[in-house]
Amino acid sequence: MKEQIEALRREALDAIAAAGDLKALEETRVRLLGRKGRLTEILRGISQTPPEDRPVLGQAANAVKADITAAIEARRNALEAQAESERARAEWVDLSLPGRRPPRGHMHVINQVYDEILDIFHELGFQVATGPDVETEYYNFDSLNTPPDHPARDSHDTFFVKPGVVLRTHTSPVQMRVMEKTAPPVAVVVPGRVYRVDYDASHSPMFNQVEGLLVDEGVTFADLKGSLMLFIHRFFGRDTRVRFRPHFFPFTEPSAEVDISCTVCKGQGCRVCKHSGWLEILGCGMVHPNVFAYAKYDYEKYTGYAFGMGVDRIAMLRHAISSIGHLFENDLRFLEQF
Ligand SMILES: [Zn+2]
Repeated sequence: MKEQIEALRREALDAIAAAGDLKALEETRVRLLGRKGRLTEILRGISQTPPEDRPVLGQAANAVKADITAAIEARRNALEAQAESERARAEWVDLSLPGRRPPRGHMHVINQVYDEILDIFHELGFQVATGPDVETEYYNFDSLNTPPDHPARDSHDTFFVKPGVVLRTHTSPVQMRVMEKTAPPVAVVVPGRVYRVDYDASHSPMFNQVEGLLVDEGVTFADLKGSLMLFIHRFFGRDTRVRFRPHFFPFTEPSAEVDISCTVCKGQGCRVCKHSGWLEILGCGMVHPNVFAYAKYDYEKYTGYAFGMGVDRIAMLRHAISSIGHLFENDLRFLEQF
């Protein structure tokens, strides 16, 4: 019996030392000290021994029990400390590591140019007006002095939604919508998307325009010229040269196209300006009396001017963008440059 007790001690201490984690240690503890454990078995066996041997055996068994308990306790502390340090290493946070910034967006280059254009006219007293992208033929053409058989209609290559309804080919229909609702004086700028059946490096089926309309008593072509010169000098720089070329639009008379000295070669001639030294940037003119008649304005009393410019083209000139497609493809490598 004495040898059994000694054997248990050695075996128990080896098993405790070999327990690799807290779960294994607990299993070892139950196996040694539990109700059906080895030590309990031995204690039960002592009661079968001669009475005179029992005190010595009992003492030895209790000593082994104390040793085993102490060894388990020590091993548990060691395993707990180890688990704690492993957890700390796994959860360790490097406070000195630089953070990762979330990507930050900004305004699209087209909206930046819109804002810049509208800001300049806002300072001149123009208000912003808008209208629908899906427009009736009446507002898009008829009321702007462009009847069904008018040759100017061909050049627009219109998208028809259904008979009589189109995707607006220009922002000019908003002129009529504003005049119908407002008595003169009127001074509005109209930003918006417009649509034409056209697609190449400098044309897109959807593009952006800013329209302007000013109506009052005594407005002359000199006022139109003055406002546009001021805009161009503010937007493209004071040294930009400007020329007005006679042109034809059905809704203005007289009409002009406006060129500026090439922003790339400063008028020397280059590929962008097709070696002319000039870039066309907008169309304008004095509002046609027929348009005033549609608006029920008294064309004996009031005169006015109107102009329209392509925002995409202006953005392309400002930033030397080679293809209008870049503006709509939403490639971040392109957009992040602005
Ligand atoms: Zn040039």
